[in-house]
Amino acid sequence: MKITNKLDLPAGLVKAVSTERHNEPGCISATTLLQGVKHIILTDRHWDELEDDVADRIWAIWGTAVHSLLEQEGENDFAEQVMSYPVGDITLTGRIDNYDMKKGIICDYKTASVNKVKFNNFSDWWYQGMIYAWLLRKNDFIVNKCRFITLLKDHSKIDAVRDHQYPQNPVFVYEFDVSFLKILQIEKFIKNKVREYVRCAALGDGDIPPCTPDERWDKATKYAVKKKGRKTAIRLLDRQAEAEEMAADLGKGHYVETRPGESTKCLSYCRCCGFCNYYQDCVKAVDEKIAV
Ligand code: SF4
Repeated sequence: MKITNKLDLPAGLVKAVSTERHNEPGCISATTLLQGVKHIILTDRHWDELEDDVADRIWAIWGTAVHSLLEQEGENDFAEQVMSYPVGDITLTGRIDNYDMKKGIICDYKTASVNKVKFNNFSDWWYQGMIYAWLLRKNDFIVNKCRFITLLKDHSKIDAVRDHQYPQNPVFVYEFDVSFLKILQIEKFIKNKVREYVRCAALGDGDIPPCTPDERWDKATKYAVKKKGRKTAIRLLDRQAEAEEMAADLGKGHYVETRPGESTKCLSYCRCCGFCNYYQDCVKAVDEKIAV
């Protein structure tokens, strides 16, 4: 991957953000497995052609710095250990920030924005924690719980005072228990995803199915019922017909505004989008049409 430096930032910063391939040949990490299959394969195939700017990678340094400060081992725990286990011809790996052997607790350190907590958006961490739990169990360790210690990088004390729904501290703990049923559930997910990855790895770029709506962070199109002269919508609905009916019932001066959905990851967060036909044909083309 080429790292550009558009802001002419110091060499030390450029060095700190420079990155190697995340996966060895034949291996796939837990965090990689959570990406869309098309994203995984295109990123790997086009690694040497991909570009990223130092400024856009700055939060990655923050995450790395936090990890190196916190990776202390206690009497009963180990830190930054890589666990692995074969799934067919692929080796699944996971670097675990901290594992308490006595209590069977996996602990992972994260940096995140306040919105993640406000919208209770933790499904990616649930899957990551469960893959780690599966890897540990396969290596004969017990796992009872996963904990994600989250440093909220945009936390505001003023907003916390004003709003009781707002996270009250700059550290948030997301945690859940690990059960036998959850282990079976994640095993099924792992096997299906690896099978799909292997199947698609034999296809050309354009023949690999697009990442799923969840993996693309899709937002659905919404229909806002509005009134002339009022800034905010009266109601936001999923179906156009329902919105049209409501505007008609409310009478003169009411109308429907369409708020087009988008594939947020494809548009703003996918490094390999330049090599993705789904992005070129469906996301970029639609976005350009809306902008006109
Ligand atoms: S642009 Fe979207 S569909 Fe294509 S690889 Fe990236 S995330 Fe997946």
